[in-house]
Amino acid sequence: MHDVMEPDSSRRRALVQRFAVAARTAGYGEVVPPLLEDLGVFLRVGETTDVVTKEMYDFVDKDGSRIALRPEITAGVVRAFVQHRPALPWKVWYAGTNFRHERAQKGRYRMFDQVGVEVLGVDDPDLDVEVIALAARFFESLGLCQVELSVNSLGDHGDRSRYSDAVRVYLESRRGELSEAAQTTLERNPLRVLDAKRPSDRAVVADAPRISTFLSDASAAHYERVLSGLDAVGVDHVGAPLLVRGLDYYRRTTFEFAATALDAAQNAVGGGGRYDGLAEDLGGPPTDGIGFALGVDRILLACDAEEVFDAAEMSIDAFVVDVVDGIAARDITHELRAAGVAVDRRFGGGSMKSQMKSAGRSGARWALIVGEDEAADREVTLRSLLDRDDQRRVPRSSLVAAMRDLLDVAAPPARSTPADPLAPPAAGSSTPDTPRTPT
Ligand code: AMP
Repeated sequence: MHDVMEPDSSRRRALVQRFAVAARTAGYGEVVPPLLEDLGVFLRVGETTDVVTKEMYDFVDKDGSRIALRPEITAGVVRAFVQHRPALPWKVWYAGTNFRHERAQKGRYRMFDQVGVEVLGVDDPDLDVEVIALAARFFESLGLCQVELSVNSLGDHGDRSRYSDAVRVYLESRRGELSEAAQTTLERNPLRVLDAKRPSDRAVVADAPRISTFLSDASAAHYERVLSGLDAVGVDHVGAPLLVRGLDYYRRTTFEFAATALDAAQNAVGGGGRYDGLAEDLGGPPTDGIGFALGVDRILLACDAEEVFDAAEMSIDAFVVDVVDGIAARDITHELRAAGVAVDRRFGGGSMKSQMKSAGRSGARWALIVGEDEAADREVTLRSLLDRDDQRRVPRSSLVAAMRDLLDVAAPPARSTPADPLAPPAAGSSTPDTPRTPT
């Protein structure tokens, strides 16, 4: 687990913000499920997976109930659906933190963030295309070029279990060649062996039966429509007949995104698929579902590797330098912030020189200087920190208007207008989410 500080925290927030805008643009509303769920929610969806059996942080609560810090978000979202029964189709996005007791290494952490979407109540393969394209376009919007999409179909419940039996028979026939770990996995869940990473296991897996011959006509037609849809909307993809995903609940379409600029062992930046039986498993009515989760931490590593989506410098518009008594600094910061100008100051006074140093370090475009002269004349000196020759003095009473003019900041909305945290910032305005670099 790690602490995230500037500039990484701003970059992370900007990434989530970008995802939120992409999801909202496609008609997805936000859902915020709790970080803790009843342990049963996860047990019911992944009894044979490492994520649930080995890596979960679960404990007995004060009232004796067994709960878990979520290792993923889909189960909680579907539990929320079952509990509240919103109108269908239910299209939601989320961003949040998960916990898995993993062997930590670069790109694999015990606490990590995901963004994702889920849609409940739609069987149409064109939705699969919409969902996959949303993720693919999001990666593109960050500037990532080296992200590969693999797709597969695991078939419906019947196809999947017939396929699983066939894989079991095949792997049993070559059991002696499998590692001990793969042999244990084979006992519990043969399909998970297809995901094995050891080269010796991979050699066995390479000759395993393919799902395509086990797909029912309906599953095959669904998958065909997904593939042709991805072609039609221009989302590059490769067929990956051995792609199974970590959790048990996937049916039919499954997909994964790999950032090829990262080390192969930790290069999955996201994945998802259909989970048509999940709502039922959690006590709800049979409901189609599909979604994906993308790993924020790894996406940022991929951005580092491709040198895109840089961390924006935290910057402000102005820094107040008050060498008199701090009263002007106190009042000016409040007035300017209320007017939408990003402004900071130093506390505890200090000489002109040292305060100007702080102003320089703050990244502000303007120093707003109040010395003895300015105080006596009820004026403020505006000194550009980017252009030494640009300096002017304005009456204290017209400072807000002068700054708005200089920065091209729109007047703030009337107080009764509800703030939309996802609306793009007004031209020229600075917010902590979208720090503006001085120009
Ligand atoms: P999953 O929920 O296992 O399908 O994971 C979806 C995405 O979350 C993966 O593709 C990774 O990008 C990310 N992820 C999963 N586990 C971790 C972890 N322990 N640390 C960092 N990212 C993770």
